[in-house]
Amino acid sequence: MKINGPIIYRDGMLQSPWQHALINIKVTSDLKKIENIYDTLIVGGGITGLTVALLLQETGHNIILSEAHTIGFGTTGGTSAHINTFADTTYKEAESAFGEDGAKLFAGAIREGFDIIKHNIDKYKIDCDYELKAGYLYAESDDEVEQLNDIYEGAQKVGVKVEYTEEVPTNVAYKKALKFGGQAQFHPLKYLKGLEKAYINAGGVIIENNKIEKIEKDGDLLLAGDIKAKKAVYATHMPPNINLFNFECAPYRSYVMAVKLKSGKYPDALIYDMQEPYHYVRSHTIDNEELLIAGGFDHKTGHEDPEKAFADLEKYIRKYYNVSSVKYKWSSQYYVPVDGLPYIGPIPFAADGVYCATGFNGNGMMLGSISAKILCDLILDKENPYAGLFSTSRIKPVDSFFEFVKENADVGYHFIADRIGIPETDSLNRLKPGTGKVVDIEGRKVAAYKDDEGVIHTLNPVCTHAKCMVNWNSEEKSWDCPCHGARYDIFGKVLTGPATIDLQQISN
Ligand SMILES: Cc1cc2nc3c(=O)[nH]c(=O)nc-3n(C[C@H](O)[C@H](O)[C@H](O)COP(=O)(O)OP(=O)(O)OC[C@H]3O[C@@H](n4cnc5c(N)ncnc54)[C@H](O)[C@@H]3O)c2cc1C
Repeated sequence: MKINGPIIYRDGMLQSPWQHALINIKVTSDLKKIENIYDTLIVGGGITGLTVALLLQETGHNIILSEAHTIGFGTTGGTSAHINTFADTTYKEAESAFGEDGAKLFAGAIREGFDIIKHNIDKYKIDCDYELKAGYLYAESDDEVEQLNDIYEGAQKVGVKVEYTEEVPTNVAYKKALKFGGQAQFHPLKYLKGLEKAYINAGGVIIENNKIEKIEKDGDLLLAGDIKAKKAVYATHMPPNINLFNFECAPYRSYVMAVKLKSGKYPDALIYDMQEPYHYVRSHTIDNEELLIAGGFDHKTGHEDPEKAFADLEKYIRKYYNVSSVKYKWSSQYYVPVDGLPYIGPIPFAADGVYCATGFNGNGMMLGSISAKILCDLILDKENPYAGLFSTSRIKPVDSFFEFVKENADVGYHFIADRIGIPETDSLNRLKPGTGKVVDIEGRKVAAYKDDEGVIHTLNPVCTHAKCMVNWNSEEKSWDCPCHGARYDIFGKVLTGPATIDLQQISN
């Protein structure tokens, strides 16, 4: 059963190429009352939520999935959808923080996440453009060569297939390169719709446009608005409200473009460089049209200029490819965990029986999928080999992740500096249509957006999560919080957690 409302496709104004798969989807509006007691409530309809919902429902459990917007609204609708056997946290880094056994387990989890996707595609016959491809990683400087050698060594040690190669399908001049065989790519929302169908066929319930603001203990049960369940999983990418993970994971925006090439020749591989931040390219056919998908220029949410990030990305693509037109451009959000590995399990200090999975870095296709298996085992009281490694209550020394600590230190800076001492000369009148800015009106900070008709929408710019000041995102037309990554639309509605409460509207 599926209960839903109007369709809004994703958490920003820019369209990703995946959304075409959702257009014209028939929605039911069966408003049957939610009066059952469910075994588990799953909050969030991305790859993590739907995979765990399906897995649990198929064990005979009675599951309800609640999505604040529509299925695929979050990062799964804005991903670049590579499926890899390697990860942003290299196996060498995992070994230095978690030992050789930890690194081997991490590689096992990534592999199993990869295999879960393939298993679901085969089992439920999901037509989602799944294709195996070779993955190439190349180094352009001596420092990068050193890191590349470490990546090779780390991958060898944990048993991931990798070899040196001199034949990377790229125009970029590189010094040394690796080839990872047996990587894959797919269409993330076609996959999600396949999972959704299988879940509903198995008797699962989905409610869309139903934001869960809190989950409270109610005797032996958990209560989330009208929903009663014995257990709950926050598959929300980042659990909502103030929690430990706000301090253990940093939010990043990442930029992607899909372009047509004059040559008509598209790389038949997944190709990555090693710059900071890195770039990648691959190809995908959308609506019978082959496209080059390229991404990069990541930065902490709310910290840099999204317009510049897109301009830099386009410049980068045009430097190496003969672009005839830009078909899509979009950005999305991911979370970098403090010690390099995700957090999967019970939420510390929350009610008993409330779980989450977060901190996937840029690897949530595999890590979201393996999270589903881990969470399913935890809920069913079964052993899981990865539960200890990804424990939500682990405390690890973070020597090799000092960058993270440095970056997160600015949370305090934004809390104070955005409120005081910043001279504000702009007035509402000087705002151009289609733009927004935090302005000073008679000594009061106001988040003001002028729409294309010249109507000004004003909001209290104080993020409802941890009270930092939001910044304008000129590309996605959203208000983004530089502290923990909460995002709001031009009317103040929450687009991305951890906030659950909308920005307060101010009448002018
Ligand atoms: C640009 C980009 C490219 C990427 N490329 C790759 C890649 O190639 N390979 C890879 O493995 N990973 C990649 N990633 C990472 C990957 O896309 C994510 O880790 C993954 O999609 C997260 O899935 P999720 O289901 O956990 O979260 P989401 O897809 O964000 O889903 C969470 C859902 O929860 C809902 N929600 C939130 N709060 C509430 C609430 N209070 N009540 C109800 N619902 C709520 C949201 O609306 C959302 O739909 C990329 C990330 C980015 C940003």
